[in-house]
Amino acid sequence: MPTFEPYRIKVVEPIPITTRERRERALEEAGYNPFNLDADVVTIDLLSDSGTGALSAEQQAAGLRGDETYAGARSFHRFRDVVADLTGFPHIYPVHQGRAAERVLFGTLLKPGQTVLSNTHFDTTRANVELRGCTAKDLPCAAYRDLDSDAPFKGDIDLEALEAELSGPDDVALVLMTITNNGGGGQPVSMANLRAAAEISRRHGVPFFLDAARFAENAWLVTQREPGYENHTPRQVAEEAFRIADGAVVSLKKDAIVHIGGLLALRDPELAKRCELLVIAGEGFRTYGGLSGRDLEMIAQGLLEVTEPEYLRARAEQTAYLADLAAEAGVDSVRPTGVHALYLNAGRLLPHLPPSRFPGFALATQLYLEGGIRCAELGSLYLGELDEAGGLVKPAPYELVRLAIPRRVYTQSHLEYVGEILAAIAKNPERVRGYRLTEIPPLLRHFNCRLAPVD
Ligand SMILES: *Cc1c(COP(=O)(O)O)cnc(C)c1O
Repeated sequence: MPTFEPYRIKVVEPIPITTRERRERALEEAGYNPFNLDADVVTIDLLSDSGTGALSAEQQAAGLRGDETYAGARSFHRFRDVVADLTGFPHIYPVHQGRAAERVLFGTLLKPGQTVLSNTHFDTTRANVELRGCTAKDLPCAAYRDLDSDAPFKGDIDLEALEAELSGPDDVALVLMTITNNGGGGQPVSMANLRAAAEISRRHGVPFFLDAARFAENAWLVTQREPGYENHTPRQVAEEAFRIADGAVVSLKKDAIVHIGGLLALRDPELAKRCELLVIAGEGFRTYGGLSGRDLEMIAQGLLEVTEPEYLRARAEQTAYLADLAAEAGVDSVRPTGVHALYLNAGRLLPHLPPSRFPGFALATQLYLEGGIRCAELGSLYLGELDEAGGLVKPAPYELVRLAIPRRVYTQSHLEYVGEILAAIAKNPERVRGYRLTEIPPLLRHFNCRLAPVD
């Protein structure tokens, strides 16, 4: 079979085409921080795959059927039925985003001083744990640390470390598995690891939850990589994964292919009753949770579309194609290639820039300057330790750039364009300048900092 995007385009949006001078000016005005750029100066936007997907005709049609009744809307029932079929959880609450589900769950379940264990906490998840006065501990498996290894499930949790933590002195409130492991290069978690981690948690009497933003992409990679799952559909894998857990927090801005939404799903009726109070107080009545009937309908439809094998195959192939283009250009990326993003190894491409000059950030900026491509650094600017003057005290373990791929938005020729710009940069990498920080906000640094180039 030839491979191509398994959809055709019915509605189009023009892409801004800019000049080098316009981009230089925009970047300078933005303090060189891509988060400060306006959409109308960005040609290809690979900053995030969150809420950036394209709706299908069926989702739009479902949106028109949205029932905007305050309580007990038909749209809530459609949403709940679809989520219940997929997950098997009896208690399901819509909320406005994934982080709202985290706040509700942690606000109910966590007591100050407790610990949450994870393969890797997502950044808002960590923030919500710490805001409760608790500690978020990451226990990634050993393979996770080797960017070049082709180990199939580098998103797994370290089971020995999990057993040790649960037998240790800390008061562990929750084990939370992120699928796929976004913090860890979008690497998948195997079903064997999920089952083993759930069994260990249960033996220690600790609830076992999923952070399931990319549940369908994880399921796809399981069908491709895990022995025994070759003949499963992604939908069957996803159903099985949810049934291993006691509950889930889900950002629907990823694998429900909608622009806004989240959900909290629970098995325990007592916990559900307590969480419901926080949902109503902070999000909205239990049958809408801060979303409109239109949103609930589009989510329900998106959750049916996202596990279609042809959709997932094409999406995974798109990312793999971009990885091939990068490799041909001489730019290494984190192996093996995942689905939602490609992580470029900027540290290796730009050895003339020490971590204190932020090579990941420098490559991201160069992609914008030369091609109007916006993407995010995942290196010492985001994860390193800084002193008050912005000097780097402890670098991040890697200097990466994340090219996140919005769902159903860009075609193969857009990716080829990204490959060409990357190849142009990789031809003369030593001309890429480093950066220094000029403004460092105390919190959420990467969103708000400003920088300047260093010659
Ligand atoms: C996006 C994301 C979240 C937070 O969800 P929002 O909808 O952005 O609030 C939590 N966990 C993971 C793994 C995510 O990717």
